[in-house]
Amino acid sequence: MYLIKNVVVPISKEIELKKALSNKLRTKSIENFKIIRRSIDARKKNNLKFNYTILAELPSKTLKHPDVLEYQNPKPYIQTQRKLSSENPFIIGAGPAGLFAALSLVEKGFFPYIFDRGDKLEMRINKVNDFWKKGILDEESNVQFGEGGAGTFSDGKLTTRTHDFYTEKVINWLIQFGADKKISYEALPHLGTDGLRKIIQNIRIHLENKGCKFFWNHKLQDINLKNDKINSVQINNQTFQPEILILAIGNAARDTFEMLSGKINLESKSFSVGVRIEHPRKFIDQAFYGEKTNFSLTGPATYRLTAKYKNKGIYSFCMCPGGFIIAGVSEKNLQVLNGMSYLHRNNNFSNSAIVVNVNKIDFGNKILSGIEFQRNMEKKCFKKNKQYFAPAQFAKDFLENEISSSDLHTSYNPGIFKANLNNLLPLQINEALKYGLKIFDKRIPGFVKKGILLAPETRTSSPIRILRNKEVFASLTLPDLYPVGEGSGYSGGIISSAADGYKLGKIFYC
Ligand SMILES: Cc1cc2nc3c(=O)[nH]c(=O)nc-3n(C[C@H](O)[C@H](O)[C@H](O)COP(=O)(O)OP(=O)(O)OC[C@H]3O[C@@H](n4cnc5c(N)ncnc54)[C@H](O)[C@@H]3O)c2cc1C
Repeated sequence: MYLIKNVVVPISKEIELKKALSNKLRTKSIENFKIIRRSIDARKKNNLKFNYTILAELPSKTLKHPDVLEYQNPKPYIQTQRKLSSENPFIIGAGPAGLFAALSLVEKGFFPYIFDRGDKLEMRINKVNDFWKKGILDEESNVQFGEGGAGTFSDGKLTTRTHDFYTEKVINWLIQFGADKKISYEALPHLGTDGLRKIIQNIRIHLENKGCKFFWNHKLQDINLKNDKINSVQINNQTFQPEILILAIGNAARDTFEMLSGKINLESKSFSVGVRIEHPRKFIDQAFYGEKTNFSLTGPATYRLTAKYKNKGIYSFCMCPGGFIIAGVSEKNLQVLNGMSYLHRNNNFSNSAIVVNVNKIDFGNKILSGIEFQRNMEKKCFKKNKQYFAPAQFAKDFLENEISSSDLHTSYNPGIFKANLNNLLPLQINEALKYGLKIFDKRIPGFVKKGILLAPETRTSSPIRILRNKEVFASLTLPDLYPVGEGSGYSGGIISSAADGYKLGKIFYC
């Protein structure tokens, strides 16, 4: 099999792919081929092209083209290592990492028990809506916690596709559970929160049919150790003695990290904090694709921006074209933002986090210092008389250190209050953000003038790493504890966390 790169077709003539392929290879029509990747080439605005990578069987005389490469299917590389006596491994957390660990274990003949502190999806959606509309927060079941994990109310961007056996497995599972086949080849695949919810429900049904058990509203409260082993665990005040414990708790479970600190080997890690910026979708679309583009063929435009100020990286993160800024709080009296969209990405705004990398120099040397740094930012941005409203300011006013005087229109619910973000964010973050915004404005003229900033964005990745053995996935200090997914500090995002969980399942046998 061969990969044929850079097969280019005008976006309005997608149907001509077969013709473009045979023209490129100067051969007659190729019947059996598969699209491996499709990206948009927007170098010429108003004249956009799709750039395809194709997989096909080819006659050998066509092979001397620089864009034609031999193709190897990615191979599995995780070795089976540990026999378990119990058929019911315990998984804590029903986010992507926990669910894909369960799928993998089921393939190996196990019937995992999956515990999550939050609610089953349907109840969780009601609670999140109550929070967004009425400010009533359930600290155990919210945008971060509950069935599907943090990914459920997300943009559903599948950003970390690599040529890896397990990543491809995850993509194939997602398709089997309801995702559009396009996610297997789009350069920027996207599911939307609505797409994800359907998939998560289908995964639950599949796992239950295979004999797994879910325990909703069940929180891991404590781990009791004896001779460097897990003696027992407390879940909802009940004591259990699982053979192994898979910890797939995500990056927001601060109380669980606090409980773990001092018991197992953790370290603080760098992460990023900053603001969300929002623009009219039309402005971003036209800046990238031109005014005459048929956006129903391209979808809304996305961007990825980076800059460097002193030793700090500043970058756009989790861009949500046609999406919404949402409140992602899991603790009362704090404020946290994030981005979300639906499959069709047709809201009139496009938003993105603009964040700055922080490390021990910013937050201190203690294991939990990063969490305290996040909390302090979140506390400063919370306003008692306007609960969960977000402080907001025009980007140009932020640069000039002035509270905005004219009205600010954003997608954010529950609401906003005008504030000078210079007074709410740490000094070094303000400086770096200002520098970055000016650079980004050169790349996208109008980025500052048309942009509104809301704060704070603090949960970009885990501030903690649960140290684990690279080969066997187990905690360095507790061989029966298996940290996976974003909360382990070894993955970030939906796909890499799901793949991490899936790989873990492959090391066990009955
Ligand atoms: C609003 C939002 C938008 C996002 N958008 C994207 C995106 O577009 N693309 C992308 O790749 N990533 C996105 N992310 C990040 C992505 O959701 C996470 O990287 C991913 O969900 C991590 O998976 P995980 O399974 O490791 O952890 P999580 O999804 O966080 O799941 C952890 C689960 O563990 C449970 N839990 C925690 N502590 C305990 C305990 N003590 N006892 C029992 N259960 C517990 C929680 O309830 C939760 O369900 C977004 C995140 C948010 C919040």
